Amino acid sequence: MKLIRFGEPGKEKPGVLLNDGSRIDVSGVFPDYDEAFFEKGGLAALRSWLESNARGAPHVAASLRLGPPIRRPSKIVCIGLNFRDHAAETKAEPPKEPVIFFKATTSLVGPNDSLVIPRNAKKVDWEVELAVVIGKRASYVPKDRALDYVAGYALHNDYSERSFQLERGGQWVKGKSADTFAPLGPFLATPDELSNPGNLRMWLKVNGETRQNSSTSNMIFDVPTLVSYVSEFMTLLPGDVISTGTPAGVALGMNPPKYLQPGDVVELGIEGLGESRQQVVNSPLQQQSQ
Ligand code: ZN
Repeated sequence: MKLIRFGEPGKEKPGVLLNDGSRIDVSGVFPDYDEAFFEKGGLAALRSWLESNARGAPHVAASLRLGPPIRRPSKIVCIGLNFRDHAAETKAEPPKEPVIFFKATTSLVGPNDSLVIPRNAKKVDWEVELAVVIGKRASYVPKDRALDYVAGYALHNDYSERSFQLERGGQWVKGKSADTFAPLGPFLATPDELSNPGNLRMWLKVNGETRQNSSTSNMIFDVPTLVSYVSEFMTLLPGDVISTGTPAGVALGMNPPKYLQPGDVVELGIEGLGESRQQVVNSPLQQQSQ
């Protein structure tokens, strides 16, 4: 199944993207894709409901905005430096254990919403990533059972402001958490939609030029390892997101770096998880001060 949410920001309703490309509204039966939905077996209920009701369900116009495919979760956990080529371009050693950091959940937006450059930002950068959405409460999960805890996968752009992240002291969360810095989707794909999450092509372009072109097979730590590892340090709740790291090709690794400017267009995709597109705009206040 491919789960979507559609409508105005903050008022999204749940839907499903069918195999024929049409979108249906399931909000009459399922209130939202949130912690309670995943915790109470919502995915299985949705699957069985679709079998007899998909054809008669109300259609969603293709013109309607897509929101993030899940409601705002309790956490967005990110994995840093999970590709050797990205660690090298940022002049970091490949980590011996997964690097974990947080992204504020308020950064979550729809897949094609504009990327708003925050106040005083100078170094806004992109990171195409495979996001894992947790399906049930996970604490001290062994690696060989970790995939039982995965509800599905989605495309994510882990936007980063490098001066906030690396030059302002403290933790990376400063550079990862601005509003609009986590476009997720277009859809959440349940695991049966993907033949192998460990071998998916991933790419990102800026203004039509390829910047990132890799595969999830190049991760240092794979998805089962990451779910198990993160669950050693915190309880993951249904609907929580783990973003699994980015390959080489970010602006920070360029010489000289070419950070995002208003008017730029970022397009990205992961095999089986669709594509997204963000237009870069200044915050209204930023425009006044220029
Ligand atoms: Zn990242």
